[in-house]
Amino acid sequence: MKANIHPKTYTINITCSSCGATYTVESTIQHDYTVGTCANCHPIYRGEKIDQGTQKDARVSAFTEKIAKAKELQEKIKQIRESKQQRLANRVGVIAREKPSLSDIVAKKSKK
Ligand SMILES: [Zn+2]
Repeated sequence: MKANIHPKTYTINITCSSCGATYTVESTIQHDYTVGTCANCHPIYRGEKIDQGTQKDARVSAFTEKIAKAKELQEKIKQIRESKQQRLANRVGVIAREKPSLSDIVAKKSKK
């Protein structure tokens, strides 16, 4: 090694807060420290497979639920629109019935 170009290193302990494993390493950091997870306890480093099947199923069921909710809402909106149209049609029908026809007017006039 070339002299006076490398940083000073210290032997420190890194402790995993999840599994309690301790690693002794060379570091430029001067103090011991704690990590949340390490190669000893993280499933990826242990070679364990993450069950993507259940994750996929959860996503699919969430999507299906979302679609079902949307369809339900669309059905509600459709019912509201239909009832509004029905009410409007009834109102128009009442107005149309109240309005006398030309023959009624002529008949009334001829009676007088
Ligand atoms: Zn660990």
